[in-house]
Amino acid sequence: MFGLYIHIPYCRSKCAYCDFYSAAVQGGVPDEYVDAVVRELWRFAPCGSTPLRPDTVYFGGGTPSLLTPRQVLRILDAAGPVPGAEVTLEANPETVTRERLAEFRAAGVDRLSFGVQTASDASLARLGRRHTAEDARRALDSAHRAGFDNISGDIMLALPRYTTDELRATVELLADACTHVSAYLLKIEPGTVFGRRPPDGLPDDDAAADFYLACVDALAARGFRQYEISNFSRPGFESRHNLIYWDCRDYLGVGPAAHSCMGGRRFFTPRGTAAFLTRDAEYTPDGGCTARDYIMLRLRLADGLNLGELQRRFGARLTQRQLAFANTLVRNGLARFDGRTLALTPRGMIVQNAVLCELL
Ligand code: SF4
Repeated sequence: MFGLYIHIPYCRSKCAYCDFYSAAVQGGVPDEYVDAVVRELWRFAPCGSTPLRPDTVYFGGGTPSLLTPRQVLRILDAAGPVPGAEVTLEANPETVTRERLAEFRAAGVDRLSFGVQTASDASLARLGRRHTAEDARRALDSAHRAGFDNISGDIMLALPRYTTDELRATVELLADACTHVSAYLLKIEPGTVFGRRPPDGLPDDDAAADFYLACVDALAARGFRQYEISNFSRPGFESRHNLIYWDCRDYLGVGPAAHSCMGGRRFFTPRGTAAFLTRDAEYTPDGGCTARDYIMLRLRLADGLNLGELQRRFGARLTQRQLAFANTLVRNGLARFDGRTLALTPRGMIVQNAVLCELL
């Protein structure tokens, strides 16, 4: 399995919490940016003559729904995904219409990921989002009418002045319309508006953990299986692209600030759209993919870490100390371990960082 990530570093404006690499732009994505993406795709094409033929393509950002369908088509033509590839486009609800979504579908997109975040208009305004809950409802409905049956929605939890009613309303908004949900706790990042001036009413860590567990339960009650710390899906609708990351498979990231891992070597393109536009991108080495990375990534997944796979792919085994620690996690309800596969429970996932510190 090989995944291709295309970074679109443009947004209409900058949200208060966001530290993704993107800049505000009037209008759409410049054609020069698409030219530069196509240039890089051909640079990585085997022998420079056939397209990359990825199994998954993910347009992330930024706001990829600012691309035109024609621009999406140009990028997909240059990438040449295999038949049946999963092709995802992240979209902001206020940027799409049914007609535009139908054109994306005709261009080859078969999966949409909407940044819905919350059903509360007051919270959306505090976050600096440009859409309302009604915009999100309309966008999800338009996606269905445009023929999409694989739709993901992002939720942000533990927002300022957050309540269980807000959580319930948000799950309600997404559950019927979506086949996949990604749920994240709000994190205050330095260098953002919230980082400079933290908002009032932020839940403490215990309250945030309670919201997370309530979200897991609410989604489970609506038929969503938690298959990764932050990701939930109806059966068969897991994100094939993200599973490539969590299973340490090969992926290429194109665009400023995009990360890649090919043949066990990690590398990334530095931030800086101007440099990316004007010359061949520089790919900076970022170390190799190790057994430690594999353990960390697999323990994000509900399917967990298979010790046989760890040995087969990385020639590594857990030590006696690590095995004893795994059994301690089981006794505390934080993990399942049958001697072959170690997997964290939802409660274990909340404290994943502490678990990994002790384990590794
Ligand atoms: S739309 Fe997304 S990428 Fe753009 S600023 Fe907001 S959160 Fe960041």
